[in-house]
Amino acid sequence: MKIVLIGPPGAGKGVYAQYFRDKYCIPHISTGDIFREEISKNTELGKRIKSYVEQGLLVPDEITIEVVKRRLEQPDTLNGFILDGFPRTLNQAKALDEITSIDAAIHLVVSEEVAVKRLSGRVICPVCGRVYNLYYEPKPKFDEQCDYDGAKLMRRKDDEPEVVKQRYRVFYDTFAPILEYYKNTSRLIEVNADKSIKEITPLLERILIENKILKLKPCREVKLE
Ligand SMILES: [Zn+2]
Repeated sequence: MKIVLIGPPGAGKGVYAQYFRDKYCIPHISTGDIFREEISKNTELGKRIKSYVEQGLLVPDEITIEVVKRRLEQPDTLNGFILDGFPRTLNQAKALDEITSIDAAIHLVVSEEVAVKRLSGRVICPVCGRVYNLYYEPKPKFDEQCDYDGAKLMRRKDDEPEVVKQRYRVFYDTFAPILEYYKNTSRLIEVNADKSIKEITPLLERILIENKILKLKPCREVKLE
């Protein structure tokens, strides 16, 4: 199962990727994670990546593509993988097709309204670091107060409703050509992900099996929280 996960902020990409990683023992490959790891290990590559990140620039395609190419050469990708955060340009999508054959791009479709609610509801305790959501579980027992220490819960600037709307629109501006590319090559699968993770996960799994993309046997049972 070689798939690319695409979804706007608030789509729950990370959660779905983790589920398939754990249940089917295939790697969840996030370019963001690889970049952070290279930077923290202070490798040559990490230093190059860091210089772009520090200037607020996107890491150039050639570096990103090389990173993904090297990662996909690792033996743990033999049965498949889930790519997250890559490709994010049309050029990268085309390069990926030269490296390997992608079975499908899964577009987790989330309405702007739901994305805003999910992300702007996310609040964190500045004292103990616990994370809550004002609209979904785990909700704080009292309005905007930490259950453990009573501190006033804070929202990240990035999660302010206006900022989320902006991020959502930027996402679709960026990804429109990529979605189009996978659609034109008959590999785009769209899944409505407005409902809860508990409802969407089995649906997504069934779609992958029915489309003969997921042919692996589970390597362990995974419970949905
Ligand atoms: Zn707290």
